[in-house]
Amino acid sequence: MAKQQCGLCGKKGVKLVESHVIPRAFYRDITNPDRPFKLLSDDANVFPKTSRTGVYDRIVCIDCERLFGPWDDYVSGLLFRNIPDGKTGTNTDQLTLYYSNFDRHKLRMFFLSLLWRAHASDQDFFSAVDVGPHSASIAEALLTNDPNKAKEVDVLLTIFATEMTSGFLCPIRERNDYFNCYRFCFPGFSCLIKVDQRPFTGSWKHFGINNSDKIYLLVRSFQDSPEFAALREAALTVLRRGKDPWGRELEWTK
Ligand SMILES: [Zn+2]
Repeated sequence: MAKQQCGLCGKKGVKLVESHVIPRAFYRDITNPDRPFKLLSDDANVFPKTSRTGVYDRIVCIDCERLFGPWDDYVSGLLFRNIPDGKTGTNTDQLTLYYSNFDRHKLRMFFLSLLWRAHASDQDFFSAVDVGPHSASIAEALLTNDPNKAKEVDVLLTIFATEMTSGFLCPIRERNDYFNCYRFCFPGFSCLIKVDQRPFTGSWKHFGINNSDKIYLLVRSFQDSPEFAALREAALTVLRRGKDPWGRELEWTK
């Protein structure tokens, strides 16, 4: 393979290695390990893909790839194997689950690396993610292991109340009245990654991972969420093409 330049550290003449943009552990379906995940897009022109291993790309050298491992392992363990140790609120107020023992540094580094990898990847699945000039501060944070170099990035974690999603939705860029952000949707939960100098405001300011006293998971109804609407639209697009959600041709289209 031709030697290239690492997208993160900038070293030239290096071999680029396979990087998972979303950690491989996130793709394990705890309800059915034999069934591959669907990678879905709400863009009708992007065909869904079935994947057991997720989306990877060659964007960094081996030294930079090794930076990601401990952060990926920590967050996969926290969110997929550890049960939150408390809850606050009620169903009428904002119900949240929380972890009181956590490593904020690793959590912040993970989300910075996830965002940077999605930005750097040329894969269609991540085409909505382009952090522009923020890529320099995020790369510096990753290379110096200091998340405060990219304080404009903060994260709200949300968990769906009743339903497990069976697919990954491609990240969506959102601009609201308060900040610019990206929404990443994984099976069972999603996160809002803010890339904006303006801090979270209102009730949200208590829940951003940079400053919160605990790591909170805001509980949301999956069926009322924009992620559900987008996943449903993606599934309907597949059905309209005459395929079932596993890609098999439907009988009635013959
Ligand atoms: Zn590198």
